[in-house]
Amino acid sequence: MNLILMGLPGAGKGTQAERIIDAYGIPQISTGDMFRAAIKNETTLGLQAKAFMDKGDLVPDEVTNGIVKERLAEDDTKNGFLLDGFPRTIDQAKALDQMLKDLNKKIDGVIEIHVAEDILVERLAGRYICRNCGATYHKIFNPTKVEDTCDRCGGHEFFQREDDKPETVKNRLAVNIESSAPILAYYQKLGLLQTIDGNRPIDDVFADVKHIIDK
Ligand SMILES: [Zn+2]
Repeated sequence: MNLILMGLPGAGKGTQAERIIDAYGIPQISTGDMFRAAIKNETTLGLQAKAFMDKGDLVPDEVTNGIVKERLAEDDTKNGFLLDGFPRTIDQAKALDQMLKDLNKKIDGVIEIHVAEDILVERLAGRYICRNCGATYHKIFNPTKVEDTCDRCGGHEFFQREDDKPETVKNRLAVNIESSAPILAYYQKLGLLQTIDGNRPIDDVFADVKHIIDK
């Protein structure tokens, strides 16, 4: 089965992707991995992508799409694949339809792991650091044993990195929500979108994922 996995940062997409590829023996195809491989193997498209990246420019769609198409044509995708991080735009989604058509394939389903924005902010913005010894904690996942007291050094002063601050996280999420909304709508219209509540234990979320795939 040919799947696309979608979800905002912090929604648990990576964990579910691992489970899916383990359970179904299909490769995970992420744009980051594809770029690294194409550049390492010095394919024509890989070298083109590298030239843009070295200049600090965005890699144009035609190069990205070419790299995706090459990857989707490889042997290990014959029983299916899990696309992650692609498509990022409607143009890429349409290009994906065309390249799959060329390869005699199609998307069977798009799975969105959905978690409400305020919960994602809690998950992503929870990290804080002891000012004295640098020990890191997380408000939800790894709090100090005694409130406001570092487990390691007993210090009472903590700070958050810029990236971990709620405002930064909210901005990052807003950008992601805005860019993914049209893609979700696109697949919704095609009847391919399945949304799963990701604010539950990992096993429960995966049970739903399996249910959708097995159907
Ligand atoms: Zn400390």
